[in-house]
Amino acid sequence: MKPLKIAIVGAGPAGLAASLLLTRAGHATDIIERFDSPAPVGSALMLQPTGLTVLEALGLGPAIHAAGNRIDRLFGTETARGRIVLDVRYNALPGGRYGLGVHRAALFETLYDEVSARRHKILTGQRVVGVSEEGGESYLSIEGGERLGPYDLVIDASGARSELAAASPAAPRARNLTYGAFWATLDCPDGLVDQAALTQRYDKASVMIGVLPIGCRRPGLPKQAALFWSLKVSEADEVRKRGLEQWKQAIRSYWPECEPLLEQITDWDQLTLARYAHRTMMVPFSGRMVFVGDAAHSTSPQLGQGANMALLDVAALAHALARNETIEAALLDYARARRMHVRLFQLLSAAFTPFYQSDSAALAWVRDRLVATIARVPPAPQILAGIVSGTLVDPFHGAGLRECDWLRQALPQPT
Ligand SMILES: Cc1cc2nc3c(=O)[nH]c(=O)nc-3n(C[C@H](O)[C@H](O)[C@H](O)COP(=O)(O)OP(=O)(O)OC[C@H]3O[C@@H](n4cnc5c(N)ncnc54)[C@H](O)[C@@H]3O)c2cc1C
Repeated sequence: MKPLKIAIVGAGPAGLAASLLLTRAGHATDIIERFDSPAPVGSALMLQPTGLTVLEALGLGPAIHAAGNRIDRLFGTETARGRIVLDVRYNALPGGRYGLGVHRAALFETLYDEVSARRHKILTGQRVVGVSEEGGESYLSIEGGERLGPYDLVIDASGARSELAAASPAAPRARNLTYGAFWATLDCPDGLVDQAALTQRYDKASVMIGVLPIGCRRPGLPKQAALFWSLKVSEADEVRKRGLEQWKQAIRSYWPECEPLLEQITDWDQLTLARYAHRTMMVPFSGRMVFVGDAAHSTSPQLGQGANMALLDVAALAHALARNETIEAALLDYARARRMHVRLFQLLSAAFTPFYQSDSAALAWVRDRLVATIARVPPAPQILAGIVSGTLVDPFHGAGLRECDWLRQALPQPT
């Protein structure tokens, strides 16, 4: 295919990685971001073997490993009796896989620094409000009346609340989830939690508290962790009104060892309220516009896959553009390559989330008794490891990727 002129809407993980992969393939990209200075939103996230493989293919493996913290296990207990409810280990499958807890800013900076070093064009402070096609070329409408273009292809990487997706006939309406979470990034003293685990505590499905160690953002800075507290989004204002001390007391009552984290929270501004929405686009393109990342499929972060799926999407799109002769054929190829993986993980996320974030006492009962028992019996540990790794069905082949050799490049386990 001849080199294309491509507009990428959104400078999140999907947009930045898309620009790197596509310029490497000889295309010209413009990244258009609504914020004046692009910045990560929120606290922390887990990179899985899928996302790490894409970053490695971009040559960013060493940088992201240096900024993150190796996670080997997801471990959760219920608070009433301390029963183990969740114990998923990556090493239940062979191959030496692991996850990486990272500050959002670490992922953002790793991608953004590379985009900046390669002098990709980023237009900031420009909110894209529409796309039109004329004579086989696309134009972007910017808030305030400006028009950008022409482009051969528009990539919508503008996230879960994408205005372009909302206006597209290809997209079903997003379903806002009742539960969200308060997130904070805090210094994490040694010994507070197992540094190699995402640790969670649950009371029924209505209370979930988690601590994700994310390492040091830069050498010499203290180790950090993300603390999250699940709650109904509609109750967030009421919780804030009742005061910080009452909120902290609730956490203490479930998890007193978190005190060194709680001591650092002195203002609500340190807590970000994350809202989640669920939507899966069955056909992630429409005309000359293609959807990637959360714009194409968003969900709750219960399985920790969103950013990883965004990275897989853009790898698959770049691969499809490289091996097809027309844009139309490439978009069909991209949709086919991602279909199975995206649908499966969206389905799993929709199925699992209510066990951890809902008002259902029955689901929590099933989780604490039946699921916890079944999860220990093979092949359940292997299936759960495949779910968490994002590899339950092969995500690599369709994206033209070969999975990393984890045993060769593994980070030492955190102490
Ligand atoms: C609290 C929380 C925890 C999470 N934990 C995990 C995890 O552990 N693992 C994981 O893989 N995923 C996790 N996720 C999901 C992950 O954050 C997303 O899947 C990922 O950020 C999607 O990347 P994206 O580039 O598609 O979209 P985004 O990161 O949302 O980026 C979209 C960009 O587009 C810009 N934009 C939006 N609209 C416009 C417009 N009209 N014009 C121009 N620019 C626009 C935005 O400003 C933003 O910069 C979590 C999400 C949340 C909220």
